[in-house]
Amino acid sequence: MELIQGFTEAIGNTPLIRMNRLSEITQCEILGKAEFLNPGGSVKDRAALWMIKDHEEQGTLEPGGVVIEGTAGNTGIGLAHVCNARGYSCIIYMPDNQSPEKVDILKCLGAEVRQVPTVPYADDNNYQKQAGRFALTLKNGVWANQFDNIANRLAHYQSTGPEIWAQTEGKIDAFTCSVGTGGTLAGVSRYLKEKKNSVQITLADPMGSALHNWVKTGEATMSKGPSITEGIGNSRVTDNLIDTNIDDAVQITDQEMVTMVYEELQTEGWFFGSSTGINLCAAVAVANKMGPGNVIVTVLCDSGSKYQSRLFNTQFLSNQGLKIPSTHS
Ligand code: PMP
Repeated sequence: MELIQGFTEAIGNTPLIRMNRLSEITQCEILGKAEFLNPGGSVKDRAALWMIKDHEEQGTLEPGGVVIEGTAGNTGIGLAHVCNARGYSCIIYMPDNQSPEKVDILKCLGAEVRQVPTVPYADDNNYQKQAGRFALTLKNGVWANQFDNIANRLAHYQSTGPEIWAQTEGKIDAFTCSVGTGGTLAGVSRYLKEKKNSVQITLADPMGSALHNWVKTGEATMSKGPSITEGIGNSRVTDNLIDTNIDDAVQITDQEMVTMVYEELQTEGWFFGSSTGINLCAAVAVANKMGPGNVIVTVLCDSGSKYQSRLFNTQFLSNQGLKIPSTHS
């Protein structure tokens, strides 16, 4: 029998799925790495496991210890699962502007959630900085530090990247995804470029983020926002993202993302979150730029189930001036 040994072994080895409608429209192969099928439900399960393993290997996290993180959602969910599976407690600091679904899930998983006022990164009371400071007060407590802990990027260099390479049998021409910490883009693209330097890497950015400008001009200056997307976009270049060889960047509007998410739902049956919508729009943009016949891979980060109160709330969307295509209008 070929069995997976428990929760942490179930992380990774996700399917690579052909996005049929988008492949037909573009005459390219648009392939999605199904990270929503990880056992904690998102791409961040990999980073959570790698960061905890890194602390265990360094001896900074011992049995019965506490893992602390500043996170707007999926990393906290991944950490809470892995902590339960390995006998640690989990404390999550998050800004108070996040969807209630995420807070509820974290509490269900047994994490202690500390919601703090939403302030910019430069402010000392930013949720990430509060998490880091609190971890220093505990003897057997560690700060996962997903933004600047490169164990996050390593997860994707050692697992997601090699999986994509094997699943495409090396016949990959381009990779694109959006960036929160940058772990996914940086780790996957490092691995792919080492294997085949011609693989084109495109950063997909929502409005209100500084990373599109950073790729295009070298300066991380903020673009006009805001965006209803969650978990992606950044005002700074993290240690995970820095020194990544990125060929291009595309900016995707919320309306393009909403149209993509609803069309995939209505015509293909997929139920995706907002960052996946951004990624699929970017994959189409890359396909249109490169022309027919190319193989383009992106990431299906998480499902739509955490976004009922925003992306899948008609009233919320109409208050933002966003239109739902066809049957859902
Ligand atoms: N999509 C979702 C839904 C996320 O939660 C995140 C992480 N915050 C990302 C994409 C971006 O992943 P990364 O942190 O690896 O850049």
